[in-house]
Amino acid sequence: MSSIKDCKICKSKKLIFIKKFNKKILGENLFGLEKKKTYERKLYKCHCGHYYNIHKFSKFLKEVYKKNYSNYSHSDIEKKFNKILSLKNKSSNLKRINFIKMRINNKNEILDVGSGMGIFPYTLKKKGYSVDCIESDKNMCNFLKKKKLKLVSQNLLKIKNLKKKYDLITFNKILEHFELNKIKKILINYKKLLKPDGKIYIEVPDSLASKKGIDRQEFYFEHYNIFSKKSLKILLQDLDFKINYLKSIYEINKKFTLRALISL
Ligand SMILES: [Zn+2]
Repeated sequence: MSSIKDCKICKSKKLIFIKKFNKKILGENLFGLEKKKTYERKLYKCHCGHYYNIHKFSKFLKEVYKKNYSNYSHSDIEKKFNKILSLKNKSSNLKRINFIKMRINNKNEILDVGSGMGIFPYTLKKKGYSVDCIESDKNMCNFLKKKKLKLVSQNLLKIKNLKKKYDLITFNKILEHFELNKIKKILINYKKLLKPDGKIYIEVPDSLASKKGIDRQEFYFEHYNIFSKKSLKILLQDLDFKINYLKSIYEINKKFTLRALISL
């Protein structure tokens, strides 16, 4: 998408243009796009609090996720994996685990979508949960296997062959990497993998981060959508989900995040 006229969530036609970016911002990874003269993205904001990153590099990003997201993001996956595990209580991972532990029985079956290097599913497994993973990046897939985690698909958009039903499906900072029509499709598709009383856990960047500025990771190029509590609520209700929990959290790693738990 290279332009946007109205908010795909609240339908407002009054989108506010915030800023045009022509180069990478501090800490951002453009995966080589910074060398291209044509690199450009525009940030828009809606009255519902939702932000849109508009650019024409979705095909480029798709390839990055398949082949080399990890090459650029984690030069040494094992080292990073161990470092985060060693943070224990100081990690956002453990806070997330604790949230889940209080709400989900450890006999329950979990599907983690977009597992990355697998810290979250690995910790869940150590706590006694049964957990399956979906990941697209080749290096990460190999790493997950090395950590004895079960990979059930390498494409989160292709899950027709999955027959198992889950008590909990988790999307940790995954949905923002997709455009809105895709996000809707994904959530609708994964409903089919839920047991009748199953739940979906979601974390997405929170646009509240804008109070500290927009040159922040929440607004990075690869995030098409930066949600507000209001926009996430509207989207989930439009998809007929019941919202069990929805809160803005400020994480220990200084990320502004929306955390949600939803059910059918
Ligand atoms: Zn809106």
